[in-house]
Amino acid sequence: MSYEALQNMVSSSKRIVFFGGAGVSTESGIPDFRSQDGLYHQKYDFPPETILSHTFFERHPEEFFRFYRDKMLPLDAKPNAAHLKLAEWERDGRLLAVVTQNIDGLHQAAGCRHVYELHGSIHRNYCQSCGKEFPPEFIRDSAEPVPHCPCGGRIKPDVVLYEEGLDNDVLSGAVHAIRQADLMIVAGTSLTVYPAAGLIHYFRGNHLVLINRDITPMDSQCDLVIHDSVGKVLGALS
Ligand code: ZN
Repeated sequence: MSYEALQNMVSSSKRIVFFGGAGVSTESGIPDFRSQDGLYHQKYDFPPETILSHTFFERHPEEFFRFYRDKMLPLDAKPNAAHLKLAEWERDGRLLAVVTQNIDGLHQAAGCRHVYELHGSIHRNYCQSCGKEFPPEFIRDSAEPVPHCPCGGRIKPDVVLYEEGLDNDVLSGAVHAIRQADLMIVAGTSLTVYPAAGLIHYFRGNHLVLINRDITPMDSQCDLVIHDSVGKVLGALS
């Protein structure tokens, strides 16, 4: 019944915006480090939120990159049914943009072009001295604990660490897309991470849909809520 309702909304929409969180990537084998079976309770002395902070990166870069290489570079992960369906909708001219909290680049790997990566991407890395860019494989394969540019500068992944602000251009692009959307699908997020979570308040379209395994604080504000896996739901639509 709810699938049919969602299919009707999708079929009658021309400007869909998809807002995705960690749950979109878990089905590609990328763990959500905020969930119980995620990266918690593992072999590090600090919680992920501490390691992935600006202060920690500056003070303990070796430990940061040990964790980062181990947990944040799933370079062999493949797009799942959700990523593929969204790319299909974009090709059909029904999808305006994807706004994502994920940094794995799987929407682009599936073929999506209009992707606003609120928290950056593991696929972009740059030298903090000269600005030269490096692919993620350079960090993965570097013989040094902390990867460096030939110029001597330290290389930093272009991901937004805790204590760092979001990129203004990405944020304003996402807001612009959300304001134009007629259907907004929020998926795989508990919507507790600000300022990203505040973005849905810019939506003025017809239908706000939430797809998430667990109940969220936003459930009562949505037109349709489906508690299921994102790939399963989107994969079943046309
Ligand atoms: Zn350099």
